[in-house]
Amino acid sequence: MIRINEDIGFLGTGNMWSYDLGNSSILVRTGEGNVLVDCGYANFPRILEEDLLGQIDFVLLTHLHGDHAGGLHPLILKKFYTGGEKVKVLYATPDFRDELTKYMSCFMSDMGKYVELVPLSNIPEIQYVDTTGRHSKGLMSYAYSFVLGKRLIYYSGDLGDISVSEKCIEEMLKAHPGAKAGDVLVLHETSFKEYFGHTYYKELEKLAKKYPVLAYHCDHRNAPSDCRLKFAAVSA
Ligand SMILES: [Zn+2]
Ligand SMILES: [Zn+2]
Repeated sequence: MIRINEDIGFLGTGNMWSYDLGNSSILVRTGEGNVLVDCGYANFPRILEEDLLGQIDFVLLTHLHGDHAGGLHPLILKKFYTGGEKVKVLYATPDFRDELTKYMSCFMSDMGKYVELVPLSNIPEIQYVDTTGRHSKGLMSYAYSFVLGKRLIYYSGDLGDISVSEKCIEEMLKAHPGAKAGDVLVLHETSFKEYFGHTYYKELEKLAKKYPVLAYHCDHRNAPSDCRLKFAAVSA
C-alpha cells in the first residue's frame, strides 16, 4: 500500500491495463471503520499479499468496470469463508443499490448470506457526486469527497469531465469556511491520451495549479516528458 497520510493509502494506482501497479483503489480510515474504495480484479491478490483482509470494514465502488469491481466477488467469498463475515457494501443512491444487486446476483444467488448493502449516508465523512455518463455512456458512476478531521479529500473515480471535480471541490471549500485551497487533497484520475471518459493530463495540470493534486489510473512510467503532475504511485 502506498500511504498518502495516516488516513489514506493507495492499494493500486494503475488502470485496466497497467495492472502491475494494481488497479486504482484507496483504503480510507473513517470514524465508522475502514472503507475500501474500489476493488478491481488486480486488487484482490494485493489484499491477500499485504494481509489487509481484516482491515476492510466497508467496500464502496465508483462504478462497475472490471478494474474497479472485478475483485469484489473473491473478496466477498474470502471474507465469508475465512471469518464468517458479511462484506458491507456501501451504495450512494437507490439506483446504484439496484445496479449492485443485479451485478452481484450474476455470481451469487443467495447474496444476503454474504453481503450487507449499507447506505452511504451511514458514513457521515463521505459524500458522493453523481458522475453518471461522464466516464462511460449510460454507466452509473460516482466521485466521492471525504472530510477526515481537518482534511478535505476529493476522489474522482473514473471521470472525463473535470468541471464536475472543480465544482465539487469548490462546494467542499464553501462548506468549510476557513479551509484554504491548499487544505484540499485532490486524488484524480488521468490519461496521457485525449479520449472520452478520462481526464487528459493537460486538463488536470490546470486544476493542479489551484489545488494539491495526486494523479492516478495511469502508468506514470509512461508520462509525457512535459507532464508536470505529481503521481500517487510515487508520492511515498
Ligand atoms: Zn478504470
Ligand atoms: Zn472505468
